[in-house]
Amino acid sequence: MANRLPDWNPPMQANDSSQDVVSSLPDWSKRERLLLASYAMFAESSAGRRYVEPLHPYRSPFQRDRDRILHCWAFRRLSGKMQVFTGDMGDYHRTRLTHTHEVATIARTIGRTLALNEDLIEALALVHDIGHPPFGHSGEDVLSECLRDQGGFSHNQFALTLVEELETRYTSYPGLNLSREILSGQDFRITHQGQAPLFEVQVVDLADSIAYNAHDADDALKLGLLQFEQLHSLELVQRALQWGKSDLRGTTQAALRQMLVHHLIDVQVADLLEAARPLLKSLGSIDCRQAQQQGVQLEMSAEMTQQRNQFSRFMFDNVYRHPQLVTVRKRAGQKVSQMFERLSQQPEYLPTRFLDRAQRVGVPRAVGEYIGGMTDRFCDAQFRRLIELGEPSAQDWQ
Ligand code: MG
Repeated sequence: MANRLPDWNPPMQANDSSQDVVSSLPDWSKRERLLLASYAMFAESSAGRRYVEPLHPYRSPFQRDRDRILHCWAFRRLSGKMQVFTGDMGDYHRTRLTHTHEVATIARTIGRTLALNEDLIEALALVHDIGHPPFGHSGEDVLSECLRDQGGFSHNQFALTLVEELETRYTSYPGLNLSREILSGQDFRITHQGQAPLFEVQVVDLADSIAYNAHDADDALKLGLLQFEQLHSLELVQRALQWGKSDLRGTTQAALRQMLVHHLIDVQVADLLEAARPLLKSLGSIDCRQAQQQGVQLEMSAEMTQQRNQFSRFMFDNVYRHPQLVTVRKRAGQKVSQMFERLSQQPEYLPTRFLDRAQRVGVPRAVGEYIGGMTDRFCDAQFRRLIELGEPSAQDWQ
């Protein structure tokens, strides 16, 4: 994996703090020097991009990364991808897009409090779920099974394929040409190897789990898959309700649900900050690379970790395995596997771009990538076209 990302342009050398150097720095760099802690990832120390580009006059490299992700096709398709609950179950609950924005908001709050690089955090949050195939984890499991002889399919790996190869924004090179810190953060999610990830990466992963814990409970209550009383015995829920110090008598179910979500997020973020601040203070003035080498990990308190585990187990047993969801998932999985089979047997049905891609990565992988990029609705439409109507071609999703 270490050799996977060669030929980076060298980092900027701007660590001299003499007055002349500081006054010649771009505004974003001065701002970072003013606001960020020593252990943050400074944009001026970035390992750069695979294809060398001049610096932008007023946006930092990480601001540009965030913007590139926000403007890419795969990001917009997140609005049509389910998080846990499908579109035909209503329009209240989260999609991948709203989940992504909620993660970015929580992560930026944590990052700003800890004086980390918010621009990098935002970019990492916006890209973190970009590789999810249609129909959530059932879509991913089925694709992975279809591609088991080719190394499977993982949304984290596919996110890298999208931003490095399949997105086309520039004429001279493929992909979005993102900074190495974004790609290596995504790489770590796949390999879990090497030194500790940057604090900015850790914060996004923690914010992701804080967000989905709270929001999946909210959505499940709203959809009637869960009753409020079922949650009462959970320590994390009790702690969240105490946190609000609210009088619950006479509160409507909707207000109670909303309050629970706010407090679930607040209580977890507060716990993380309470644990992280003294830890980071104890590091002294080390930089981000030294923190990575030392393997410093941001964690919540032992008590909160245990309470979160209990909550997750409850959600797994009562929501993610709810019969209503199991039925939906099964149907979605069958669609994905039938499409995969048809297109693998008759790759000439693939859109031209993926037929070309098959020359490089083989037919099964190209079919997996084509299906992996679809939204739920687009997948339904192609299923109708290819399987139900027997049309001899599929449409491109770009
Ligand atoms: Mg996520």
